[in-house]
Amino acid sequence: MNLKSLIRDIPDFPKPGILFRDITTLLRDPEGLRYTVDLFVQKIKDAGLTAEYIVGIESRGFIVGAPLAYQLGIGFIPVRKRGKLPAAVHSIEYALEYGTDCLEVHQDALHAGSRVLIIDDLLATGGTASATAKLVQKIGCKLEGFGFIIELHDLQGRKHLPDVPILTLVEY
Ligand code: 5GP
Repeated sequence: MNLKSLIRDIPDFPKPGILFRDITTLLRDPEGLRYTVDLFVQKIKDAGLTAEYIVGIESRGFIVGAPLAYQLGIGFIPVRKRGKLPAAVHSIEYALEYGTDCLEVHQDALHAGSRVLIIDDLLATGGTASATAKLVQKIGCKLEGFGFIIELHDLQGRKHLPDVPILTLVEY
């Protein structure tokens, strides 16, 4: 299956000059959605990753991460933007182009030694995934790897990520 044919390009979103890769068209396609999840599961198994939890990054990482956790028979843990999680959290601040942002995870969701796989829809500069990695590593988790549907190769996000397997399905 050609996943790229199901991913839509939106010019000038969210601001002028940015070409947004829109996965909503992939998600609404029944065969595309099934193929995406099945291919991810296969790649995770082929790489020999034995995560106990999928850590999904808000918000498209939830859409991809939850069915992956279900298929793998493991748990799903959301990493959310500041102020969204109801119980006590661990937080990490990270730099944006202008200013900073913050990601949080419940304190009782993970503990030292938990084996986690971080999932998001797309790897661009790597800032979001790198911050999530720091958050779980601060807790003492063992980071098994990363998974993204899409990698934007020219932005070299990989360079900002720790040296663990990075699984991707489509590259631009
Ligand atoms: P990074 O932190 O790697 O620069 O950006 C990745 C984050 O921004 C991901 O959470 C991803 O969902 C979002 N993102 C940035 N650009 C795009 C895009 O073109 N398409 C989609 N679907 N998400 C994007």
